[in-house]
Amino acid sequence: MSGKARYDAIVIGAGHNGMACAFYLARARRRVLVIEAADAAGGAARPVVFGDLQVPYAAHLDYGFSRGVASDMALDRHGLAWADRDIGASAFGIDDQQIDYALSSTDAPTAIGARDAAAWAPFRERMTRFASIIDDIAHRVPPRLAGAGADARAWLAIAWRLRRLGREDMREFLRIGAINMFDALEEHFEDPLLKGALAAEALIGHGLAPRSPNSVLTFFSRLSGTAAVAMPRGGMPALAAAMESACRSRQVAFRFGLGVRRIVVADDRAAGVELDDGQIIEAANVVSSADAWTTGVELIGAAHLDTGTVRRLRHVRGRGCAARVDLLLDDLSGLDRRLLGRRLIFSGDMDRLERAFNESKYGGVSADPLVELVFPTVIDPAQKTGARHLASALVQYVPRDANDNDIGTRTLDAARTVIERHLPGLFDRVTATRVTTPVDVERDTGIRGGHWHHAEIALDQFFMLRPAPTLSRYALPVPGAWLCGACTHPGGGITGLPGRHAAARIIEPGSSS
Ligand SMILES: Cc1cc2nc3c(=O)[nH]c(=O)nc-3n(C[C@H](O)[C@H](O)[C@H](O)COP(=O)(O)OP(=O)(O)OC[C@H]3O[C@@H](n4cnc5c(N)ncnc54)[C@H](O)[C@@H]3O)c2cc1C
Repeated sequence: MSGKARYDAIVIGAGHNGMACAFYLARARRRVLVIEAADAAGGAARPVVFGDLQVPYAAHLDYGFSRGVASDMALDRHGLAWADRDIGASAFGIDDQQIDYALSSTDAPTAIGARDAAAWAPFRERMTRFASIIDDIAHRVPPRLAGAGADARAWLAIAWRLRRLGREDMREFLRIGAINMFDALEEHFEDPLLKGALAAEALIGHGLAPRSPNSVLTFFSRLSGTAAVAMPRGGMPALAAAMESACRSRQVAFRFGLGVRRIVVADDRAAGVELDDGQIIEAANVVSSADAWTTGVELIGAAHLDTGTVRRLRHVRGRGCAARVDLLLDDLSGLDRRLLGRRLIFSGDMDRLERAFNESKYGGVSADPLVELVFPTVIDPAQKTGARHLASALVQYVPRDANDNDIGTRTLDAARTVIERHLPGLFDRVTATRVTTPVDVERDTGIRGGHWHHAEIALDQFFMLRPAPTLSRYALPVPGAWLCGACTHPGGGITGLPGRHAAARIIEPGSSS
């Protein structure tokens, strides 16, 4: 390679984590180039055309974008506005029961018994307090286990957060974290649908069922921050557009439509990238928002890694289970618009969720899946560019099965069965469908397994163990090569935090950058 590198950093992928990382690096006066294989920024939230609408590729809602990242990037000045910052939820079982609730609110859900209504505020208050510990951890770069100085101070701060819970809550935090959502909810509530809806909140995006270990951890993650679910005006692609604009205002350069096929290693350190057309671009650092396996083994190459690292990368668990079903609808006349402006959670009770998960465990598409349905053009009329409306459903559990050519059809049929139970005749208004299963996500984003979080969220893949032991601090064993995507701490969902943490590590004095 030639002398001085053209860029201080090349970021692979213009998903929100790649862009958050690029922004913070550029703010620290690094020359940054973002290379994205797709034609637009946003990763799983990038805009794609569906009929006469622009829809997000997969991610349709904001479950907790970091307020800190939004403020640092001044996203409001780059066009970000909100259609709804706290979308209410309605849960449905298999009969006519409907429970309206908001995880962000101390108001008890509707249509539940007096005992459950009285239990709501104390349950929510305590869980939110526990979730604030996870939120605190999510906002930290994982410290070294045996490090001194800043590392030791970080561990002390975490211990102090726990200690401040008080003896009784500290004991309960450790106890409840070790059980599962099924048992935790059985202890607090009676209503089967309420328990199903709360379990569903913990499970969305995760390959877990109510009785799975780690489901309380994912519930705490869901409750972190305000616990509100939001939609930007213009949908999730508008958030991506604002991030791209903020990056450009810091002189970050972008290249779209060509992928990186190899991270170039010279003299035992990352020295740039080779694009799909063979072009080589030099950089002192290469930061990848692709998953850990793809970055380490496919882009860097096993020959540059020790066998222990390759083994650890192989064992990172992340098989996708979430699919997106988009529906274009002729009209919504006669339907309750107030209801369509909410998140509709077709969860049923916890046993139904468990059975749905069981089918996918053995490779099948759940015939009676968990569905979260929103009508983006009702929540945000600005998204309605033509005559038609959009309904967007998250469907779980749909396994990643590359050999199953009918998986899209069966996913659509399963979603239809569940949705029509509560909104009969809705599919008669459908004029076009778009189905995205984990295999599609893997093909279209390069994320191995097509998993929502690029790697499952579980205690053994969390914080200083994410994505794998010894790889938790964003640096790969090849100096100058870094990870910044959802496979790193604190995981996926559109938050911007992994990208911000990775940048903090790269610009840290004494880093290998
Ligand atoms: C079906 C589904 C629905 C989801 N819905 C939501 C939701 O509603 N809300 C939410 O918050 N989260 C949702 N998620 C999760 C969310 O989309 C991810 O956690 C998030 O996108 C991760 O962001 P990222 O920037 O780390 O990676 P990604 O968004 O995956 O971006 C990675 C980018 O890197 C690019 N790339 C990869 N390899 C290369 C290469 N070699 N060269 C060039 N470019 C490359 C890809 O094209 C992609 O643009 C959903 C996920 C799925 C699968």
